[in-house]
Amino acid sequence: MLHICYLCLPEIIFFPGETHCQYNILETTMSIIRNAEASCTKCGAKDNITIYRSINVSENPELKDKVKDGSLFLWKCPSCGQVNLAKYETLYHDPDKKLMIWLLPDGIDISEAQMNSISLHAKAIGNYTLRLVSDTGSLMEKVLVADAGLDDAVIEICKYVTKMEIMAKTPDKEMAGNIASSVFHFYSVQGEGPDRTITLMYPSEGRMTGVSIGYNVYEDCLGIMQRNPAMKPGEGFERIDSAWLESHIR
Ligand SMILES: [Zn+2]
Repeated sequence: MLHICYLCLPEIIFFPGETHCQYNILETTMSIIRNAEASCTKCGAKDNITIYRSINVSENPELKDKVKDGSLFLWKCPSCGQVNLAKYETLYHDPDKKLMIWLLPDGIDISEAQMNSISLHAKAIGNYTLRLVSDTGSLMEKVLVADAGLDDAVIEICKYVTKMEIMAKTPDKEMAGNIASSVFHFYSVQGEGPDRTITLMYPSEGRMTGVSIGYNVYEDCLGIMQRNPAMKPGEGFERIDSAWLESHIR
């Protein structure tokens, strides 16, 4: 066990809640895995579940797939069989991709100072992409986008452009309105190089519907971002989602 401080040893990555020179015990480069008590959403039974306070996918590559399919956050109630989603704060860290995604569910408070200190350390290490999300689905999506070698901010523009196009092709006003209010997600990328196609998903008439766009659409959206420097995400833990994009196009 090491007793170290984030200000005294800035080349090490520290985690939410760590304070300066408080002799916190840090497993700095490892995933931090704990047990916690959780209550079943159906029958209320309590169970001891595994929670991941931080997820380092270089140390634990097996965790990445479980993040990508969401299974890392699911637990089955031993009493009634209900599958529950565990909601907690975690820091996803992919050192190879220089990516950190902070999952901070609504209602969990974190001080700006803590967030800034981690941003500073990530910056010191160099050229990190830092993202803030508030739900598990968004964390999954960010990891899928990064693993596909795509830029999540550009993907947000792709989603917007695609949504507008589908709405324009939908003559029924109510249906078009439903599409306007639905959330689009990145799902997958197929093929190689310029022939790649990107599949987005959105809920329509009670089921998830896929829509594929060519890589040229992605390149066009990349061009839009490059021509608008104000759209470039900042260096801290940025929330890059549809609301972020709308703040730039209104
Ligand atoms: Zn239960």
